[in-house]
Amino acid sequence: MTIAENIKRVQEIIAQACVRVNRDPDEVTLIAVSKTHPAEVVLEAVATGVQHFGENRVEEAENKIPVVNARTSVLLMWHMIGHIQSRKAKNIVPLFQQVHSVDSFKLAGKLSSLAVERDIRLNIFLEINVSGEEAKHGIRATGWESNPGVRESVWLEVGQILTLPGLRVRGLMTMAPIVENMEQSRPVFASLTALRLGLAESFQVDLPDLSMGMTDDYPVAIEEGATMVRIGRAIFGTREK
Ligand SMILES: *Cc1c(COP(=O)(O)O)cnc(C)c1O
Repeated sequence: MTIAENIKRVQEIIAQACVRVNRDPDEVTLIAVSKTHPAEVVLEAVATGVQHFGENRVEEAENKIPVVNARTSVLLMWHMIGHIQSRKAKNIVPLFQQVHSVDSFKLAGKLSSLAVERDIRLNIFLEINVSGEEAKHGIRATGWESNPGVRESVWLEVGQILTLPGLRVRGLMTMAPIVENMEQSRPVFASLTALRLGLAESFQVDLPDLSMGMTDDYPVAIEEGATMVRIGRAIFGTREK
């Protein structure tokens, strides 16, 4: 299968998932996760009409993004989806239009100051760990629905981040655990959707986006409300280590 065929198939699966839950497919943005793949491969995806790309490592992005941008007249949107050490925050701001992996007030504060210096507002997502896996990054929110202590700490951290002047908080992002059957991830996605609603109501803010769903689980993520899906392998094939 070519990249163009893969993208067409993913778009069909997105559309079918939307039909099942009466959503408009235009509400779902496909982010092609191009990590580990070279500029030429990204440009093949650009040629099919994809405009959103996800990268997870700063050094790789610094080498790739300027090359891709220079070789197309299409205005691309670059999404940082990987964990960010705060000392790398300054490299992120000039390269990426959206940052999905903001997981602490400390990192958010750094990004905000850098954005203010450049006179922009950076679009960010708050990465939330709803699944409870220890190894995962993200603001810890497992059980926020029933555990007042968890709820309080999530609300405190999000409330602080919402005060930062250089950021526009677009919504929430999560990664579901690796499971046999994507149905097992449904509660994780449903929990993120409910959390978005709870936070939006409490803070009286618009949090329009939910970044959730990858190759193994995006149909279920869309059924549960995803507005951005981050898809690598289904488009570009398996990654070499
Ligand atoms: C790699 C990655 C993806 C894409 O994963 P696939 O399983 O290849 O679709 C999505 N989100 C994040 C945060 C990633 O690191």
